[in-house]
Amino acid sequence: MKPSRAHLTTCRRCGARICWALTTANGRRQPVDAEPTEAGNLAVMQGPDGVLYVRSVTAARPDIRPGEWQAMPHHATCPSPRSSSSGQRARTGVRPAPWAQR
Ligand SMILES: [Zn+2]
Repeated sequence: MKPSRAHLTTCRRCGARICWALTTANGRRQPVDAEPTEAGNLAVMQGPDGVLYVRSVTAARPDIRPGEWQAMPHHATCPSPRSSSSGQRARTGVRPAPWAQR
């Protein structure tokens, strides 16, 4: 299985193809890579309501059920920093430190 076209979108940070899914654990939105991979630790499925749901593949529940596919969480593969604020706070120039003047 693969995500249907309707679910495909693009990561705003790196432009990768991703899709949003709701976690079965707590219903939060999570970006997952659109391309299925057997290395992924997530199992994604499209629910009867047309929404994608994602759950973790754990040692306790390693089986992939019919209709599911394995995918990586996009957090794991996105090359951009997770926090944009820390990413943009990189030093752009050297300034004298104010405390040195005391
Ligand atoms: Zn990304």
